[in-house]
Amino acid sequence: MKAAVLEDIDTIVVKEIDKEKPGPGEVLVRVRSCAICGSDIRIMHHGNPRVHFPQVVGHELSGVVAETGEGVEKVKVGDRVAIGADVPCGKCYWCQNGMGTNCRINYAIGYQFPGGFAEYILLNELTMSYGPVHRIPEGMSFDEACLAEPLACAINGLEMAQLGVGDTLAIIGAGPIGCMMIEMGRFMGATRVMMIQRSPHRLEIAKKFGADDYFLSSEENFLDNFLESTEGEGADVIMVACGSPDAQEMSLHMARHRARINYFGGLPATARPITLSSNLIHYKECMVLGSHGSLPRHHLKALKAIESGMVHTAEFISHTFSLDEIEKAIQNAESHEGLKVIVHP
Ligand SMILES: [Zn+2]
Ligand SMILES: [Zn+2]
Repeated sequence: MKAAVLEDIDTIVVKEIDKEKPGPGEVLVRVRSCAICGSDIRIMHHGNPRVHFPQVVGHELSGVVAETGEGVEKVKVGDRVAIGADVPCGKCYWCQNGMGTNCRINYAIGYQFPGGFAEYILLNELTMSYGPVHRIPEGMSFDEACLAEPLACAINGLEMAQLGVGDTLAIIGAGPIGCMMIEMGRFMGATRVMMIQRSPHRLEIAKKFGADDYFLSSEENFLDNFLESTEGEGADVIMVACGSPDAQEMSLHMARHRARINYFGGLPATARPITLSSNLIHYKECMVLGSHGSLPRHHLKALKAIESGMVHTAEFISHTFSLDEIEKAIQNAESHEGLKVIVHP
């Protein structure tokens, strides 16, 4: 089978590798769509302690069950399935208590396990037992279904921030997940959604997702304008959906009393430590938290949200490429020209 193998940092090679045969409890899936995520690009350029080369990366995917191993009951040959990233180990304290995003091992497709930039992916027994593998609802395309993975992370993040009815939601970062939060946040109760972004181009793209207000954070007086538009109150929930120390610091100044601030986007390992005026947290009685990845239940919820039209995933797909064109696909994703770039292996 053909696969895009990441052999080393910045060395991705499309080549023939052996197609595996599913053993007991395992499932072979013919991959139809695999979206490029910012974290794939980071792995390609900087590596990741959880990824050992050579490896096939890609963790936002969908396909058709091609072969099942002995004893598999969850799916059958021909089923269309969406596959998420994080696979709870099922055994540690966190996984056994429903908090698999804090799993001690932190397995994920496209990290320790081979990913979706290949014609086929073998889902091991652990993935089939505890992982995010769900049937694609009828009428949903493979391209839309693979976006259930990033949407699942957005849902987990909004849940962690306890977004509720009547809240003002501010999202910093108009990448694909930030834009998904506009739509999802609305359905989770936000009565006002504000999008904040540093670059005009991405802010322009985000306008089709219908936030109430759009702010350029690179503009002078941004913070004054933002606060003024909330009558000096600030936002109830702030999702920092970008990897920027500046944005993390700024978010505290945008917070209303009792706000929940989610440092959703991880910072690059090289980022400076942030400086925060902790009295802002103290006097406003804010909660600053983080969230990371998603649980299988979030992946299932994401598929339902897409099916019901809460999130218009088709609107997020800006470019598609074949597996042979993966380098072009990566460049396109890095250019931030559009939103989601999907590879069709
Ligand atoms: Zn991702
Ligand atoms: Zn675990």
